[in-house]
Amino acid sequence: MADFLAKNIIKDFDTPEGPLRILDGVSVELDRGQSMAIVGPSGSGKSTFLHIAGTLDRASSGELSLQGVDPNGFSNPQLAQFRNEQIGFVFQEHYLLPQLSALENVLVPAVARGAVPGELRERAEELLAQVDLAERRDHRPAALSGGERQRVAVARALLMQPVLLLADEPTGSLDQKNAERVGQLLLDLQKTGDQILICVTHSDRLARKFEVQVSLENGQFLPRGSE
Ligand code: ADP
Ligand code: MG
Repeated sequence: MADFLAKNIIKDFDTPEGPLRILDGVSVELDRGQSMAIVGPSGSGKSTFLHIAGTLDRASSGELSLQGVDPNGFSNPQLAQFRNEQIGFVFQEHYLLPQLSALENVLVPAVARGAVPGELRERAEELLAQVDLAERRDHRPAALSGGERQRVAVARALLMQPVLLLADEPTGSLDQKNAERVGQLLLDLQKTGDQILICVTHSDRLARKFEVQVSLENGQFLPRGSE
């Protein structure tokens, strides 16, 4: 079985006019080390799919598994722990905590689990060095540029060595130069960590660098280039 499996995912949202089908049988299989870009029109359900893949939302039906584990039967606390350990998120906005330094922000996923062991602190410092921010470790977000903040968010997403890294338009708020850099960084770090990376992007340039490329249209994944 593939490390990440989504099979026939259907998602209906309740609306005053009745159920609205956003995902209409989405399937994908990815192994560790593989990367997939999702493109598609605004409102096509790209974020909805990432939320389901990341266990932030539940599908109306369909199968999901990460390294053979089906998170569907988990209670909310179990789900929170599973997500914290197995899944890293990068969003369009960085969501850094303004009162914390860059290093402390990277450590937030560890703090969520209690005391921070020294090895995680070391890992956080290594990650900051990998995103080229070792010298900025004590800076608060307000003292960082947009690109630097997003690089801190990437380091934070990788702290717990998640199997699955999910990015929702991670370069959408950046200028082209920084977008390029953050996109490449995600791909490089994912390869180094042997993670599965699924990234939603509007950038053709970025999407082309991914091993698997799909377009989400009418609730389904189409191989990119076929549209
Ligand atoms: P994308 O990320 O591709 O722009 P989204 O996944 O955010 O699209 O949204 C897909 C569609 O689902 C949109 O039409 C949106 O309005 C709708 N939608 C998203 N979340 C909800 C919700 N909680 N309730 C009702 N409709 C929703
Ligand atoms: Mg979206």
